[in-house]
Amino acid sequence: MSVTGKPPYDDANIFARILRGEIPCKTVAEDAHALAFHDIAPQAPLHVLVIPKGRWVSAADFHAEAPAEAIAGFWRLVTMVARDLGLEESGYRILSNMGADAGQEVPHFHVHIFGGRRLGRMVP
Ligand code: IMP
Repeated sequence: MSVTGKPPYDDANIFARILRGEIPCKTVAEDAHALAFHDIAPQAPLHVLVIPKGRWVSAADFHAEAPAEAIAGFWRLVTMVARDLGLEESGYRILSNMGADAGQEVPHFHVHIFGGRRLGRMVP
């Protein structure tokens, strides 16, 4: 924990390494603000991760600290990816795990996009 009570950003996390180009990913889309790539262990026929290009662990950090342009750019890429994958008509799910109790494995803020099959009702 830092003096602010917030866990420090870990520059060795896997998504930071992907952003630095140290390990490969299957890129779906990229712009100045965010990168979208296929999840390595897909939980649906289409399972894409979208990460902002910055050092944020949680949604709270991202929304508190990122410039408005970066936040808008991130969400623009999320919806653009869903559209380009043909998910708008059938529907899709956006999910973000936040913290240990939610099972967040990678401490770099990200959203999952799931689609390509009937997903059913969300249960906690
Ligand atoms: P979390 O539980 O919300 O943190 O999800 C992390 C996701 O990252 C999981 O769905 C993993 O399968 C995925 N993941 C972990 N390492 C890689 C990788 O190197 N490439 C793509 N996806 C990964």
